[in-house]
Amino acid sequence: MSPEQQILEYDRRHVWHPYAPTVGADPMLAVTAANGVRLQLHDGERHHEVIDAMASWWCQIHGYRNPVLDEALNRQRSQFSHVMFGGLTHKAAVDAVTALVELAPLDRVFLGDSGSVGVEVSLKLARQVQIARTAARGGTLTRTRIAALRGAYHGDTLGAMSVCDPIGGMHAMFSDSVPQQIFLPRPPAFAAEATEVEAWCHEADEVLDDHRDDLAGIIVEPILQGAGGMWPWSPSCLKHLRRRADELDLVLIADEVATGFGRTGKLFACEWADVVPDIMVVGKSMTGGYLTQSAVLCSDELASEVSRGPGGSLMHGPTFMGNPLASAVTAASLAIISQGQWNDDVTRIAEVMSRELASLRNEPGVIDVRVFGAIAAVQVDTPINMRRATRTAVENGVWLRPFRDLVYAMPPYICTNDDLEAMAAGMRAVVIDQLDAAQDKINHRKES
Ligand SMILES: *Cc1c(COP(=O)(O)O)cnc(C)c1O
Repeated sequence: MSPEQQILEYDRRHVWHPYAPTVGADPMLAVTAANGVRLQLHDGERHHEVIDAMASWWCQIHGYRNPVLDEALNRQRSQFSHVMFGGLTHKAAVDAVTALVELAPLDRVFLGDSGSVGVEVSLKLARQVQIARTAARGGTLTRTRIAALRGAYHGDTLGAMSVCDPIGGMHAMFSDSVPQQIFLPRPPAFAAEATEVEAWCHEADEVLDDHRDDLAGIIVEPILQGAGGMWPWSPSCLKHLRRRADELDLVLIADEVATGFGRTGKLFACEWADVVPDIMVVGKSMTGGYLTQSAVLCSDELASEVSRGPGGSLMHGPTFMGNPLASAVTAASLAIISQGQWNDDVTRIAEVMSRELASLRNEPGVIDVRVFGAIAAVQVDTPINMRRATRTAVENGVWLRPFRDLVYAMPPYICTNDDLEAMAAGMRAVVIDQLDAAQDKINHRKES
């Protein structure tokens, strides 16, 4: 057996993969190298070079083996890789927080170790805000629940799951242990007409008013729902939620784990609506996709309110909080972001992908082609066959990971126009092949 075959064989027998069974799993590909926007893959028989249209689940914005990020990581590694964050601090964490505070509209930062953990912390923080406010008023605590949007995705841990779409998410299997939250309808599309927006606001208001005494806060993925369906939604609806949160004394949480750091064409997606949330969660691309780290931001005022409340401390503190390697690479990644090139890159990615995917709009079976910032999604009228889609994509020199009825790209910002054209060609090939296969199946059924 070749070394690649050995890896794949051992993996098949012993390793779990995300959202995958161990029995009847789709074949794996081994990554043997990664550089710039390209992955070198091996299927056990053959080597394949592919452009990574997924940016490793939306994280690798500056590319693999980026010299600036490599250097930051090496420098930190030569000092120390990890120390506990309880009672101790270090330059790497302070540099990361400095960079965050300079970019974001909020100035108190909790460093978490993944997006899901960031969301958990934001939910606890919202709850603690209400505990502090209730104590200050001298009342009895009723405000414990969170309002979320239909179609949302906020992560995989139990608290985060509780605010994911209850149908698309995994609630049903865990309904005995997931907190029961309140759901608002999915907001209308980014460019929705005023009448649609008004209708949505009306529906949302009914839910919020019904639950005004038991809600602690509202959580949204601002302007773009990601894993729930790549859905860009109306900034007017976000403005409305900000207004209602103020009126009802609710904490507005913006989960910018997917949208933060330029992905939608604004540094933070909340800027599309000129909204400043009370709490913001960032992650994914924060480290340039090098290591796992997230951050929860709020105003220092809000943090003080909690700190003076009955609980005092914010009740969270992961073992690897403020990890120096992750913090050093966050600081370096955000330094690249603050130079501003992302803005031109995201505009360029949107232009090229819109142009290159336009022909799919007329394809029977294609429901929608949505390009929003550096996110390009093609929705089809049939569930995607993953095994087949992966094979077609890799044969076309592209790494894609479709889900449900969506073939999409979230490219690294450093993709050249040639890379983007190749990526779009790969997406077109996958879409056409999936639609042909679905049609063959229908024809076959008719014949027999
Ligand atoms: C990916 C994602 C998360 C979860 O982040 P993990 O690092 O996978 O835990 C949370 N919220 C949003 C919007 C995401 O896209």
